[in-house]
Amino acid sequence: MVKRLLIAANWKMNPPPEGSLLPASPYLEHAAVDVIVLPGHLDLERCIAARLITGGQYGHPEPKGAHTGDVSIQMLARLGCRYVLCGHSERRRDHHESSAFVMEQVVAALEANIHPILCVGETLEEREAGKEHEVVKHQLKGLPEHGEITIAYEPVWAIGTGKTATPQQAQAMHAFIRPLLPKDLHAATRILYGGSMNKDNAEALLLRPDIDGGLIGGASLKPEEFAAIVKIAEGITKK
Ligand code: PEP
Repeated sequence: MVKRLLIAANWKMNPPPEGSLLPASPYLEHAAVDVIVLPGHLDLERCIAARLITGGQYGHPEPKGAHTGDVSIQMLARLGCRYVLCGHSERRRDHHESSAFVMEQVVAALEANIHPILCVGETLEEREAGKEHEVVKHQLKGLPEHGEITIAYEPVWAIGTGKTATPQQAQAMHAFIRPLLPKDLHAATRILYGGSMNKDNAEALLLRPDIDGGLIGGASLKPEEFAAIVKIAEGITKK
C-alpha cells in the first residue's frame, strides 16, 4: 500500500495568508499529497467555500450546551470541516485541556465523521528528565480501537521556537508511537511531525520511514515556503 503524505497548515490565530483563497492557492488539494488548512474558526466557512480541505483547530466534544465561546465538533462537521485538531499543545497550555478531555474530542470527532488529528509531545523539561516516552504514551491512552485518525508528534520545545527535532529524534519517537496504536491501525495511520518544520528541514524529516507528513505553523503562513514544502512532499513516496 502506498501512503499519501499529509501536509497540514496550522494558521493558529492568524488570518488566511495572502492568495490562499484564490483559485491558484498553494493550499489546495494536490494530486500526490494531501494538503489541508486549519484556519481560525471565523475563517472556516470561506476556506471551505474556496474548496480548501479544511479542519478546525479545536472543537468541544459535546454537541451543544452551556459552553460560552466554544464551538462543538458537531458544528464543525455541519459546516463542512473534514478534520479537527485535538490537543494541540497551545490548547493544553492555554486552556488546561487534559489528555482525558482531548481523548473525548477524538471520540466525538469519529462519531461526527470528521477526522481527528491528535497532537502529542513532551516539554523540554520532560525530555531533559528522560520522560518523553512516558508522557507521549500517557497522551495516547484511551485511543479508540477503530476509526481513522492521524497523530501529530509535536515536541513542545520545537513549536514556534525555530528549534526542530533532528530527523533521528523525530523518527525514534514516531517508531515508538506506531506500535502503541490500535492493532488494526498500526500501519495505515499517518504520524505527522510538527515543530519548526520549514523548506530547509522538511526533506530530511519526511524521508524518515515513520514520518508521514507535517503539521506546520509558522512556515504555513508564508505561501511560497508552504508551496515549497508541499513540492518536497510530492516527491516522496511512502509504503
Ligand atoms: C504547530 O503549530 O503545530 C507548529 C508546529 O508550529 P511551528 O511550525 O511554528 O513550530
